[in-house]
Amino acid sequence: MGFADLMFRAQSVHRAHFDPNRLQLSRLLNIKTGGCPEDCGYCSQSSRNATGLKAGRLMAVEQVVREARKARDGGATRYCMGAAWRSPKDRDMDTLVAMVQAVKALGLETCMTLGMLSDDQADTLAAAGLDYYNHNLDTSERFYPEIVTTRSYADRLDTLARVRAAGIRVCAGGILGLGESAADRIDMIVTLANLPEPPESVPINMLIRMPGTELADADPVDPFDFVRSIALTRILMPRSHVRLTAGRSMMSDELQALCFLAGANSIFVGDTLLTAANPGEDRDAALLRRLGMTAETAG
Ligand code: SAM
Ligand code: SF4
Repeated sequence: MGFADLMFRAQSVHRAHFDPNRLQLSRLLNIKTGGCPEDCGYCSQSSRNATGLKAGRLMAVEQVVREARKARDGGATRYCMGAAWRSPKDRDMDTLVAMVQAVKALGLETCMTLGMLSDDQADTLAAAGLDYYNHNLDTSERFYPEIVTTRSYADRLDTLARVRAAGIRVCAGGILGLGESAADRIDMIVTLANLPEPPESVPINMLIRMPGTELADADPVDPFDFVRSIALTRILMPRSHVRLTAGRSMMSDELQALCFLAGANSIFVGDTLLTAANPGEDRDAALLRRLGMTAETAG
């Protein structure tokens, strides 16, 4: 299929379900940095990678609320709290519940991404009112062992099933640029689309080649292949928000505009993602102005 045909198809599907001139704005905060025991080859927060990142403790609720208030006042409607964990410890659950309740009280949708969850942990977060849980498949099942060896693809799918069973909406996507094949990219997107219920949010990351990680010297993704993957995600998951996630600080405005045309309709705003750069408020506001796009409002 020619690029123009694929883009026409994706934009048509997008317009059938969304206003193509609106973007959902989220903000991501690292509530616990570094020292993760997992060995994800792309991640600066893995204690297995020599990135020199200092491990920190779980952030205090008050600090999370201060940051969330700034995000809300900056136009974000969803607040995502990420932790560099394999899984949360039960001793952390009370603090996590307090964070969900406090951020919700600001009128923001809440999201957490804390690694793998037990049934009880998923139920506890659901009871606290957590709106979304992020848990990315990252690539195809076939290629996954090349990227992560401390857990399996099935472990990721199990957590997604637990999150869904607990009644929390699902945010699940992946990364392009890990060294995967085109078939791997298609398989990852098809796996997401074929979950019993497709994720309500699908983050598509462009690998940020973090120094000290195994993938620091990975080959860059062909920009048109990246856009094709966004378009395929849109076509296969027509009702999901497709988030243009990590890597935007490396993308031109033109490439981002092509991704929006392909059906991406959500971004993270703010200067940093978890440990990596993000375009920042001014550049994003200028881009939206140039494209005549506006932010979705809460509710
Ligand atoms: N520790 C939790 C986990 O792994 O599920 C949450 C941490 S963070 C949200 C994890 C996600 O961020 C990864 O699944 C990956 O999709 C993305 N990510 C992490 N490092 C990245 C990088 N260097 N480039 C692009 N995406 C990255
Ligand atoms: Fe740990 Fe998550 Fe980073 Fe993997 S992606 S090393 S699980 S923080």
